[in-house]
Amino acid sequence: MASYNYKDKTVIITGGGSGIGEALSKKFASSGANVHILDFQAKKTQEVVDEILQNGGWAQVHQCDVSDQNQIKEIVAKITSKSPVDVLINNAGIAHVGNIEATTESDLDKLYQVNIKGVYNCIYACIPKMKEQGAGIILNMASIASTVGISDRFAYSMTKGAVLTMTYSIAKDYLDYGIRCNSISPARVHTPFVDNFIAKNYPGQEKEMFEKLSKTQPIGRMAKPDEVAALALYLCSDEASFITGTDFPIDGGFIKLNG
Ligand code: NAD
Repeated sequence: MASYNYKDKTVIITGGGSGIGEALSKKFASSGANVHILDFQAKKTQEVVDEILQNGGWAQVHQCDVSDQNQIKEIVAKITSKSPVDVLINNAGIAHVGNIEATTESDLDKLYQVNIKGVYNCIYACIPKMKEQGAGIILNMASIASTVGISDRFAYSMTKGAVLTMTYSIAKDYLDYGIRCNSISPARVHTPFVDNFIAKNYPGQEKEMFEKLSKTQPIGRMAKPDEVAALALYLCSDEASFITGTDFPIDGGFIKLNG
């Protein structure tokens, strides 16, 4: 099994208090990184940090809303006053179910604020330091919905399409500054995000929906958060130094084998 050395690297992970972000935080910390978790939920995120500290790693919570530019600027300024920012992982995101008719203006605005503006805010805040360093790695959590039509995911797909194209734009503009930018596009990953959305949208049919959603991946199951974190650990490592401006589906065959 491959292992990557992140000793003394500063890694910022948004939405690191739950699901994929929790797995990312633990994996990067156990590989030696100093992990700064930016998350809405202070209590849940502190539990993740406590577990990391107990296991001999280093992590810190910064409670915030990624859609608030002033908060993000302040937090990133605080972190970068003491250390470089080697890796930024934009993972925080929220879901919405519905076609365009079932998407209100406020639904659309909310999804835009977190899934698009949140990514913009964090990159905007970190880029000057990365330019000064002449190095930096940005990894964005996109989705299969970035490239494939998924039923009843109008607003969510819109935002994840933007995450993908922001990835290309950043990769191109900052190539000469030694900054790499890539994205990961998971199909369904078994996290609280999926459990909450099944509970909210399909009450009373949780078990059937879980089965149905598992089978939409040709491989017959959902991904595990740790599998996504393992790909991220590689993509942000020196071993992946030739990779930029690329999206990586991790989808159990969803995009290419669903025919
Ligand atoms: P999750 O709901 O388990 O965790 C998301 C975390 O982000 C939570 O800790 C939450 O507090 C935090 N967060 C949400 N809004 C925030 C905000 N405004 N500011 C700060 N923190 C905020 O979700 P997950 O399933 O781990 O998903 C993580 C990412 O992966 C999301 O971007 C999601 O779109 C993407 N994704 C998930 C799946 C899946 O099936 N789970 C599939 C494809 C892509």
